[in-house]
Amino acid sequence: MNKMKIAMLTVVSVMGVYGMRAGLPLSDEYARAKAEEVKGKLSLEQKVSLLGGCATMYLKAIPEAGIYREWAMSDCSHTMKPEHGRADWPYVQGVDDRSTALAPLSALGCTWNRGLATLHGHVMGEQMRALNKDQMLGPGVNINRTPLCGRNWEYMSEDPYLVAQMVVPLIQAVQSHGIAATVKHFAVNNQELARNSVDTLVDERTLHEIYFPAFRAAIREAGSLCLMTAYNKFNGVHCSENAYLQRGILRDRWGFMGQIVTDWGGQHSTVPAALNGGNLEMDRGKGIRYFTDYYGTGKFPLLEAVKNGDVPEATVDEMVLHLLYAMAKTGFFEKAQDKGERLTERHQQAARTIGEEAIVLLKNEKGVLPLDKASVRTVAVVGLAADLKQAHLGCSCESHPLYEITPLAGLREYLGDGVKVDIYPLGASERNADVAKVSKEQLELMRIAGGSFTDFGEGQKRLVVPADAVEKACRAADVVIVFTGTTMGYGRAHETEGGDRPDMSLPPGHDEEIAKILSWNLPKLVVVNRSGAFSELPWADQCATLVHMPYLGQEAGRPRARTLFGDVNPSGKLTATWPRRLADTAVSQMGTYNGRKVIYNERFYVGYRWFDEKGIAPLFPFGYGLSYTTFAYGKAEAAAADGGWTVTVPVTNTGKVAGKEVVQLYVEPVEHKVERVKKELKGFVKLALEPGQTRTASLAVTPRAFAYYDVLTHRWRTLAGAYRLRVGGSSADLPAEVTVSVDRDIQFDE
Ligand code: BGC
Repeated sequence: MNKMKIAMLTVVSVMGVYGMRAGLPLSDEYARAKAEEVKGKLSLEQKVSLLGGCATMYLKAIPEAGIYREWAMSDCSHTMKPEHGRADWPYVQGVDDRSTALAPLSALGCTWNRGLATLHGHVMGEQMRALNKDQMLGPGVNINRTPLCGRNWEYMSEDPYLVAQMVVPLIQAVQSHGIAATVKHFAVNNQELARNSVDTLVDERTLHEIYFPAFRAAIREAGSLCLMTAYNKFNGVHCSENAYLQRGILRDRWGFMGQIVTDWGGQHSTVPAALNGGNLEMDRGKGIRYFTDYYGTGKFPLLEAVKNGDVPEATVDEMVLHLLYAMAKTGFFEKAQDKGERLTERHQQAARTIGEEAIVLLKNEKGVLPLDKASVRTVAVVGLAADLKQAHLGCSCESHPLYEITPLAGLREYLGDGVKVDIYPLGASERNADVAKVSKEQLELMRIAGGSFTDFGEGQKRLVVPADAVEKACRAADVVIVFTGTTMGYGRAHETEGGDRPDMSLPPGHDEEIAKILSWNLPKLVVVNRSGAFSELPWADQCATLVHMPYLGQEAGRPRARTLFGDVNPSGKLTATWPRRLADTAVSQMGTYNGRKVIYNERFYVGYRWFDEKGIAPLFPFGYGLSYTTFAYGKAEAAAADGGWTVTVPVTNTGKVAGKEVVQLYVEPVEHKVERVKKELKGFVKLALEPGQTRTASLAVTPRAFAYYDVLTHRWRTLAGAYRLRVGGSSADLPAEVTVSVDRDIQFDE
């Protein structure tokens, strides 16, 4: 069976009734011809007017040329942003723009399940269509370079292979509904600190080995129709007018035919931007100014540049062709798109299904999990964030869902009326709230938790919950669930677009309070971390039961409750290394993080590649995640197949419950004639296993998986020699291995 058929089968089994739309996107020949035809009907003025938004999220309609309506865009890639005003950011009130908020990409990554990436893509394609959109402003595939990055929760991983593998099916599914995907933000946008001005300097090999592969896969394998440039500079030049990135890599090297759009407000020039490969300027409607000027002065700078001879008319033609090509591929000109659907039970179920595979069990030393529903009468939830709604937040990933099930609501719904589930503040700052500064809901929670108002005079009213009220409640409850982690929001203490976290700390007071709660030796205590990026957990060694539950969208509380009580067996794996301390990370040790000029001196030693090289033990390694069952790996074998090998490893469920294991394959070059990292992920498959069942994981490997990027030839190169293929359930636990040999040097164009 070929690879495509295997991929389709996986998709079908996960997807049930979801199906690819036959024939979309339309063929290349059709799209090229159609783009030429439409371009032929446009005057120079009309062409220029298409190269910048006519509104915050729209491109102009030119009915006489066949552009019969405006082309509509929407953020982001796990939900849809409410409708912006045409000229500015504020949302339009009173419109029906609701959509389902799925788990963000950081959570989707944790599933390590390509079928779920497909499912995610279909939901997005369908709801984009139902709200008459044409272009999805995502997925974001930037690499988690530092745990401080405010947008890590929007991205998938520190590992380029994992991101590439997940993003391809996602984009294919989205585009099968006639929605153009926009892979973003190209390139090396790995921090939010000074994101509009910071200059990043990265060597060629690192670009190709770490920061480009997900973009390359999105374009060349998935056929992403659009790409968004990054705000930052690369080698001194803004990405939106960077000749090396746009002409050199995207157009010439990867043959990208589609739309290259600036990030909103990320364009800084007319002539360089036009000459260097980009073709669409976007901003708030009233911010468009370098190509066309729909809302402003009535001047058309790009038209002027053509008339002055600074930009050849042929360049404008080329820019328009790329734009029209992407539109044509979606079926826009043929009105071939379907109606889609939104807010349906199918989409809500998809949100739950994805959420259920995204939860990562980190520690279960005393077998406290899963909890037993039948024996629980009282639950104390500690941490007010357990009842905070988060799905609507996220800047360009803000959503407008019909509802959100918080972790607390999920527990209450799951356990029903017979079980008392109360919530208590975590730490002194949560116990001591300035009435003027916290929400009514939070005050109500604190009041229920035993808080009383204290008037400090001068208008300072506080609601104070005594510490012993929390201790008493914890000691009396059958189960205590402590809820910590980050929150979404707009300050530096939050995970957010436009800013990084100042450090890897949990919210004030959490560490001290969790350490105190752990010292009480409660028999049934579970600590839950919710976040996109990781925090330092100084109490982790004392904590026997720890679960990482990423942001999970509007259904968040349901998968969480079902997992804690064992209806779902956790099968998520970490997509980034969880450092013990920020000081252990490459970026911190190399001092390569600032807001002006960031030289990526750690080069390709990113994430586990760095920890392996330096021999630093992380808190939890890349690819790690436990289950309520256990898995045993048999002997790995490699059989020659299709110019490479099929690596097979029997995996047995040795426990008492059904579970899923992500079988991971890493390549270790045995000889090092050139500098290589110790190991790299190059294959994975998720297997479902009944208790006692053995299945054979089968992973295809080709010599291309052993290649490094050779800066002398600017090509990928595999050197003759031996390569060890190591297989297991985490980057730090690879019990099966087999060594294969390549008998001659091989060079690959891409
Ligand atoms: C973000 C992009 C987003 C765009 C449009 C920018 O601020 O960086 O990711 O797609 O806004 O909302």
